[in-house]
Amino acid sequence: MPELLLEVNGLKKYYPITGGIFGRKLGEVKAVDNISFYVKKGETLGIVGESGCGKSTTGRLLMRLIEASDGRILFEDKEITNMSKSELRKVRRDIQMVFQDPYASLNPRNTVEQILEEPLIVHGMGTKEERKKRVKEMLEVVGLSSYHSKRYPHQFSGGQRQRIGIARALMTKPKLIIADEPVSALDVSIQAQVLNLMSDIQKEFGLTYIFIAHDLGVVRHISDRVGVMYLGRLIELADSEELYENPKHPYTQALLNAVPVPDPDLKKQTSLIEGELPSPANPPSGCAFHTRCKECMEICKTQRPVEQNLNGHYVACHLYS
Ligand code: SF4
Repeated sequence: MPELLLEVNGLKKYYPITGGIFGRKLGEVKAVDNISFYVKKGETLGIVGESGCGKSTTGRLLMRLIEASDGRILFEDKEITNMSKSELRKVRRDIQMVFQDPYASLNPRNTVEQILEEPLIVHGMGTKEERKKRVKEMLEVVGLSSYHSKRYPHQFSGGQRQRIGIARALMTKPKLIIADEPVSALDVSIQAQVLNLMSDIQKEFGLTYIFIAHDLGVVRHISDRVGVMYLGRLIELADSEELYENPKHPYTQALLNAVPVPDPDLKKQTSLIEGELPSPANPPSGCAFHTRCKECMEICKTQRPVEQNLNGHYVACHLYS
């Protein structure tokens, strides 16, 4: 097996629900509930699910932007979860994020040059000249020009702003980029350009990606493997081709059926997943998907399915236990 860059074991993030005049703990929201996976060097792992499924929380936990309630995160065999602040700073050079809304994540009062230089200043990297040189290089890498460096974020289109967000993530020469819905806010015509750019950059710099999206269609071509999350749990994970050709979990099957089909004659085949997404504060017992599952059996209502490994295709569903 190729070298692992990241290993996640039993990761949990629970938020307390408090109430009453004494702020008593009434319960908890299990935003991320005991998930485990690994990422190999140089690959792209897609993580997909509806909003509120815990995928963005997972991304933030991996960078320790928020603290885990439990579990281990190993980056290059080093445990991130209990690192000191100075150790963590070093790791954060190696792990960078690209966010969904480039406008919200770029300081509107700073020029592109200042925005791109900032991570280098934070990490004490390079002289002023070296930093300026790197700004120019990275602007070119993402398809912009050095004259753009004196402009402000509002002077760019959405697609260009996301290119700036990507350039900023590249500044510290990271090993892992966590891209949290990087194309969701963009027009469909621009999405493909940004995805192609990310793919080219990955090859050029030997990067590893975790690519978070709510749409299985978006991650299909960029991902080597794809994991599907539902209400804080990872319910299926497999090689990309295998997952799209042979989805095993009824939720993944429903998500794939919900991917829009452009041909009007095929419209009848597209069905949205029935029922509302239950509240993460009060998830259903047993299999969390049982309230929406067409294959639901009695056991599903009371017993949480254990993840099965079917020749490298992981699935948590009683149909396969
Ligand atoms: Fe459906 Fe049961 Fe499988 Fe859950 S465990 S997805 S309810 S068949």
